[in-house]
Parts: sequence; structure tokens; C-alpha cells
Amino acid sequence: MSIDKMGVIGGGLMGSGIAEVCARTGIDVTVAEVNSQAAQAARERIDSSLNRAEARGKIDSSERQKVLERIHVTDNLNDVAESDLVVEAASEDERTKLELFEQLGKILVKDTAILVSNTSSIPIVKLGAASQRADRVMGVHFFNPVPVMKLVELIPSLTTSDETMERMRAFVAEQLDKEPIEATDRAGFVVNSLLVPYLLSAIRMYEAGYASAADIDRGMVLGCGHPMGPLALSDFIGLDTIRAIGLSMYEEFKEPMYSPPPLLERMVEAGLLGTKTKQGFYGYDK
Ligand code: NAD
Repeated sequence: MSIDKMGVIGGGLMGSGIAEVCARTGIDVTVAEVNSQAAQAARERIDSSLNRAEARGKIDSSERQKVLERIHVTDNLNDVAESDLVVEAASEDERTKLELFEQLGKILVKDTAILVSNTSSIPIVKLGAASQRADRVMGVHFFNPVPVMKLVELIPSLTTSDETMERMRAFVAEQLDKEPIEATDRAGFVVNSLLVPYLLSAIRMYEAGYASAADIDRGMVLGCGHPMGPLALSDFIGLDTIRAIGLSMYEEFKEPMYSPPPLLERMVEAGLLGTKTKQGFYGYDK
């Protein structure tokens, strides 16, 4: 049972990437945002990513046009009602996601439709319960930037059916040509359980004045062969998202290493969120 028509909730960094990747495989995609301004921003994000793909020779202009025609952007959640699959990629906030799952559980019309979350850390079992159709809910966690990163974590909850898991495994591996790994429903899954404490440690190191941001990053790039240092990577992921993931992981495990340091809190309060606001540990005006 292939996915022909899907919805993506939230057209930010991740939702716009998920929409692009899925539309490039021929799927008809509707992206739902909170209001018309956010919907317009999502459309522009997708346009500029496709322009970059064309400039790099990954797609030609007629393919770019076809992909754009397959993506509909809306500020009305009801427009995803006919979907075979909905991927929720709204902000990492438990209340927002619970409300969305409750609404989507009522909106989706097909009995076979699957509802998944791209959350990095919020328990999938709670989202399933909110939707009232828990057997057809699971986590499908993409990586940033979605058009480039091959990995997808698949997270069945205690209430996800085997059929839902197998349909999502086939969707990710065969329709999207990505590499799935399976993780249990624990905040952070596999990758963020290892990555987030590392990023938070780098922020604590910078906050304590061990070294400049540039030297911390150069240390990990040149000393460990990482493609990007931890502070540049934090800017790229979004400091609000890292804070939210850290809080969920702290809530789950009560380990101090997951707790966001004060500097991260202050930067988020100041709206210094990284590349998406053009200022984080570094400036991104140019
Ligand atoms: P983002 O801030 O770039 O985008 C979130 C979008 O959700 C915004 O455009 C916002 O307007 C929209 N939104 C908020 N409430 C909504 C609602 N009720 N209905 C529709 N849209 C709504 O965040 P992001 O980085 O794209 O993260 C989205 C999700 O993906 C989070 O759960 C995050 O944990 C996860 N994730 C993020 C990354 C990353 O590197 N940033 C990687 C993997 C997974």
C-alpha cells in the first residue's frame, strides 16, 4: 500500500525539507502551517531549496516545476483530511503536538491513514493516545537537512501496530530511498541521546570561558574529523529546538547532563536561535 497523498504539519526547517523530499518522489503533498504568513514562509523555504538543488544540477528546471506543483501550502489543517500519511513536524512543544494529534485523529478520513511525528524527544505513546487511533501512530524522525541526510529513525510505541511499522519501513526505505534504523520510544531515541549531551557540554564549555566558540568548533572539526563543530551545529539545528529536546530528555531521565545550561536559556529568550534568526553563536547575515 504505497503513499500517494500526504500531509506535513509545520513547514519550518524540517517540514519544508520533508515536503520537498516526498514531492520529489512523486507524492502529492499538502503542508499545513499556523497562519498565512507562516504558510508563505514555508513556500519560500521550499522554493529556495529547490532553486539550490537546480543550481547544483540535482534536478532540472522542468522537474523543479513539477515538484512545486505537487506541493500545496495551506493555513487550514482540514486540507490534509484525505491523506494516506500525515507527518507532524511542528515546533518541539508537547502541548502543541498533543493538540495537533487530537485534531488530526478526528480530521483524517481514511481508516488506513497513518499519523507520524518527527518529534526528537516527546513520547510517541502520548501522541498516539491523544489521536484516539494509537495503532496507526508512530515516530518517523528525519535528519536535517532532509534532502541530504539518509538516516531516518523509526519509533514504534507500545501501542503501534506491526502493520503500521512495516508500512513506514517500506515507505522510508523503498519510496524515499532513505536508511531506517529502529529505536524504542525513549526521549532522544538513538541519535539525540548521544548528540544532545555533547552539544550541551560544548555550550557549557563556551559559557565557562574555556575557549572561544570558533576554537571549540575547530577543535572538534580538526581534532575529531567532525564535518561541523558543536556550536555551529547547534545554530544549524536551532537553539530553541535543542533546548526543548534537552528539557524533554531531562524530564524523562532526570540526568543533569540533559538540562539546558543558563546561556542556552538566555539565548532562546533573546530570540538568538541560530541560522533561522540569523544570529546564534555566530552571525549569518551574509
Ligand atoms: P522550526 O521552528 O523550523 O519549524 C516549526 C514550524 O512549525 C514553524 O514553521 C511553526 O510555524 C510550525 N507550527 C507550530 N505550531 C503549529 C501548528 N499548530 N500547526 C502547524 N504548524 C505549526 O522547527 P524544526 O526544526 O522544523 O522542528 C520541527 C520538528 O522536527 C520538531 O519536533 C523537532 O524536534 C524535529 N526535528 C528537528 C531537527 C532539526 O535539526 N531542527 C531535526 C530532526 C527533528
